[in-house]
Amino acid sequence: MGTIAVNKIRAEKDVLIDLAQRMWDCPETAYNEVNACKWTAELLEKYGFEVETGYAGLPTCVVGKWGSGHPVIGFLGELDALPGMSQKMVDHPEPVVVGAPGQACGHNLLDTACLGAAIGAKAEMEERKLPGTIIFYGCPAEEALTGKVFMARNGAFDGLDCAFSWHGGTNNAIALGCSNGLNSAIFHFKGRTAHAGGDPYNGRSALDAAELMSVGANYLREHVTSDIRIHYSYKEAGTAPNIVPDRAAVWYFVRGMSRAAIDDVYERLCKVAKGAAMMTETEVEIEFLGGCYNTMPNEYMAKMTRELMLSMEKPTYTAEELAFADSLNKQSPRYEEAKASGMLDNGPIHTDVAPLRELNGGGSTDVADVQALCPCILVSTATCNIAAPGHSWQIAACAGNSIGYKGMLFGAEVVATAALMMYEDPKHLEAAKKEFDEATKNNPYKCPIPMDVPVPQPQV
Ligand SMILES: [Zn+2]
Repeated sequence: MGTIAVNKIRAEKDVLIDLAQRMWDCPETAYNEVNACKWTAELLEKYGFEVETGYAGLPTCVVGKWGSGHPVIGFLGELDALPGMSQKMVDHPEPVVVGAPGQACGHNLLDTACLGAAIGAKAEMEERKLPGTIIFYGCPAEEALTGKVFMARNGAFDGLDCAFSWHGGTNNAIALGCSNGLNSAIFHFKGRTAHAGGDPYNGRSALDAAELMSVGANYLREHVTSDIRIHYSYKEAGTAPNIVPDRAAVWYFVRGMSRAAIDDVYERLCKVAKGAAMMTETEVEIEFLGGCYNTMPNEYMAKMTRELMLSMEKPTYTAEELAFADSLNKQSPRYEEAKASGMLDNGPIHTDVAPLRELNGGGSTDVADVQALCPCILVSTATCNIAAPGHSWQIAACAGNSIGYKGMLFGAEVVATAALMMYEDPKHLEAAKKEFDEATKNNPYKCPIPMDVPVPQPQV
């Protein structure tokens, strides 16, 4: 099982690499993935999927469906790049265009690996006449942590029996454990301008309000559970010292390991904002941008897929690729730590399969909202040097060369074969669903984004 799918992915390798390369050359940020969406739709059509763009009310979301009946399995690709992370395919930090977006999380590989998996699985299901439905999702705005949440709110994942997500990374691994969920909001303060030297008593500073909110938020930190993370950046903070700023805006993330904890702290943060406005005689308007769940990977699917990964042929690397990865490792801020822990002992790129570990993470992903709706795992394969930091120039460099492409194709093979196991033998899906039902029975999905929050539109 899986041989036909793997052979198909290998046969279509050039087409898949070409798509990943085009997305690397043309990185598009969250909700602006116009070209990535179009190119993905073209390929889905070419391979015989029924295609819909602008899916679930998101202009840059693309879906390709094939087959009929159950199981219905989702393949989750991502389309967006990171702002300001432009990087050439070289072994030192050097942007293609200063300040431009870049593939520093390798989402050009994500879209393509899951698309390759869907193409491979379809080929095998057709030939072996296996029943079931494939739904490939080209998802916008993972980096904004809200793309799949808007999709979930609008019903995009309704009716899925299970789903696979894949992400390139430093290791061949399946994620267990819980990563943080989040709420994201901008607090806009509005005051009254005045000459800061001439008649400051007539001014009501919106910047004062924003700063006092930060003071309040930083005191709030002491009285929250240890999983909570609160971070912010200023979006607007006045124009010149001699003008009392009548406008200021601060963007906050509140993260935590459960929706209940996030909602609680977010509500308290809103009180802090209102208090800051009251103190300064300004007004505050809260723009809620969205939120996502904490992750809840399906352990049964994780174990099954890890076993499978162990048995599959891993990529091998040329001397040139290993030298490139080695040079990147040496420039990583994690290098000394990686060396001391023995991480580098088996070479500069991970070629083994990591043990299943319960790792709780401070970061977030909107894959969590799919995991709250159906059994779903995040499969990872090595697409860069083993000591690469997250969201770094090193990841961007590798996402555009053969190291990234080898990991991407291996990821496609793993996801296709794991999905075929679920299509072929009902016992896998039953076990995954039993675990999911047990975990969610007292905790039904409640979308963190209310219906009245608009889907962001492309700004290009
Ligand atoms: Zn990512």
